Amino acid sequence: MPEVKILEDVCKGCGLCCDSVCPVNILVLAPDRINSSGYHPAEVTDMSKCTGCGYCYMVCPEPAIEVYK
Ligand code: SF4
Ligand code: SF4
Repeated sequence: MPEVKILEDVCKGCGLCCDSVCPVNILVLAPDRINSSGYHPAEVTDMSKCTGCGYCYMVCPEPAIEVYK
């Protein structure tokens, strides 16, 4: 099963990975958490739906997403 790891303290909360990039729409900016830089970090809502496509990894301007297949 694919796995996506968000490096929360590297995330800048830009939301690019959450804006229609994910084909199964499982990435959101965590509304209730702030990382060490003061941003709402991206989080995966349901890892079991991840296809491992890597689109989130490709769109992220930071090295904040790792995708394992
Ligand atoms: S690897 Fe693909 S399916 Fe999985 S979270 Fe990223 S964009 Fe979504
Ligand atoms: S694209 Fe990268 S930096 Fe932007 S919210 Fe997603 S994980 Fe964070």
